[in-house]
Amino acid sequence: MAASAVLSLPVTPPDYFNVVSSTLRIPSEPQVAIPVGLLACQRDPLLKELKTTIISCVRSQLPPASTNGAKKAKKSVITPELPPEPLLEVVLHDTVIFPEGGGQPTDTGVITTISDGQDWEVVQAKRHGAYAVHYIRVPDGNIDAAILAFSPGGSVVVFLGQKGWDNRYDHMTMHTSQHLLSALLETRLNLPTLSWSLTSYPSPSYVEIPRGMTRDEIMSIQDEANRLVFEGRRVRVEVQELDEGQEKAYEHPKLENGRAIGKALPNDYTGGVKRVVIIDGVDRNPCCGTHLPSIHNLQLFLLPHTETLSRSSTTSARLYFTAGPRLIAHLTSTHGLVTDTASTLSCGAPSVPERVSQVIDERKRAEKRVVDLESELAKTIASEQVREMKLAARSIYKKHIHRVDDATNPLGFLNAISVALTEAAAAAGTSYLFVLTSSPSAQTSTSTSVILVFGSDEKTVKEVGEHAKSKLGVKGGGKGQRWSGKFNGVWKQGREDIVIENILQNF
Ligand SMILES: [Zn+2]
Repeated sequence: MAASAVLSLPVTPPDYFNVVSSTLRIPSEPQVAIPVGLLACQRDPLLKELKTTIISCVRSQLPPASTNGAKKAKKSVITPELPPEPLLEVVLHDTVIFPEGGGQPTDTGVITTISDGQDWEVVQAKRHGAYAVHYIRVPDGNIDAAILAFSPGGSVVVFLGQKGWDNRYDHMTMHTSQHLLSALLETRLNLPTLSWSLTSYPSPSYVEIPRGMTRDEIMSIQDEANRLVFEGRRVRVEVQELDEGQEKAYEHPKLENGRAIGKALPNDYTGGVKRVVIIDGVDRNPCCGTHLPSIHNLQLFLLPHTETLSRSSTTSARLYFTAGPRLIAHLTSTHGLVTDTASTLSCGAPSVPERVSQVIDERKRAEKRVVDLESELAKTIASEQVREMKLAARSIYKKHIHRVDDATNPLGFLNAISVALTEAAAAAGTSYLFVLTSSPSAQTSTSTSVILVFGSDEKTVKEVGEHAKSKLGVKGGGKGQRWSGKFNGVWKQGREDIVIENILQNF
């Protein structure tokens, strides 16, 4: 018989969600909306679907999709791209779709209206005051019919769907990891988390801390986090009524390790419930996000460096982290990069660093050899010219030399020739005027050729340069006995060359 394994579906343990106030109750009347903080997604983070009742439905006044993009850039929470169609804003008695908050992005999902069996896409959910509002797409634009389908009191099934669940699982993984990481940074290194960002999948997320960290510090935090992960510390949520007056007078209890808890509620929280997320023995932190019931699956990887941020008067640093599906994606892409590089270098992956430094060394040696050979060649070209110069015995020796060269810096070589020539010509005591040009071997309308003018008389050099500007459209300038410029387009022998020869004739 074939081996088989029976896996039970993971469910949220009954002691995950705890009401710690004797007076707080979760509304059970189907005509009353449950406030954010007590929603099904916050009581039972592994619940993927729920049958519930419609409370209200109106046409959305959200700005059209095009203006939404501009706002998005400033926000740290990722907002999904909204469709161009009209949207409905629907409030339900309860929901498994988390409205964005606490740094955690919105869920997406589907609502099925039981009366007609139709599925409606939830593109976004947001908190308005204390309540979660679902933004629902009306694909055919028939708003009136859609509003009718969402008549108050009607029954619906709200579910995350595979895509919605995959995103939610990723968000919970990163968010719960952030709580674990921030707690360890604060208690072990006295580094408070100034802010954090749940970046879009699959980039690593980050926490912002007051200073950079050494590699050893990062490794010790990572080791400790993963020790706690291996222990499978439980995550729990405690809720009670939010009383702002009481909140201020409240003496914050401390964990055994001294970390003050319940310091502040998230700024954006306007619900009626105070919610504290607890990682057993590690952390207590006010938060409205959805969190995994255990950290047992949160292998945490910290990128082993921090990125320093300098703002006008402060300096802080970002520590990047990844876990869960993003960690797998990170390993897959990193492994792909190394494998591709190894194949290009024809070696095994472990030899990549050594082979790369070998290639870089070889390249440095090759570059140096090119420089040496260029200088040797420049001297040979210069001495040939000086020999001709002596034979010509004219009052001024004028010459144009064109080269074809695919060097990254062809002007560098022309300069080397000019330096060697200037020295040799000075020794010979002759007046001279040279124009050196250089073009790449394959030319197109966007190719660049370089031009270098030099001679014994500064004024003449300048005038030749000005002529090259006006007759060939060369862009350039010069000082003293040298003038250099660039010519864009195809440099043709018998065309541009003739123009240069003609310019030289005038001097
Ligand atoms: Zn949180």
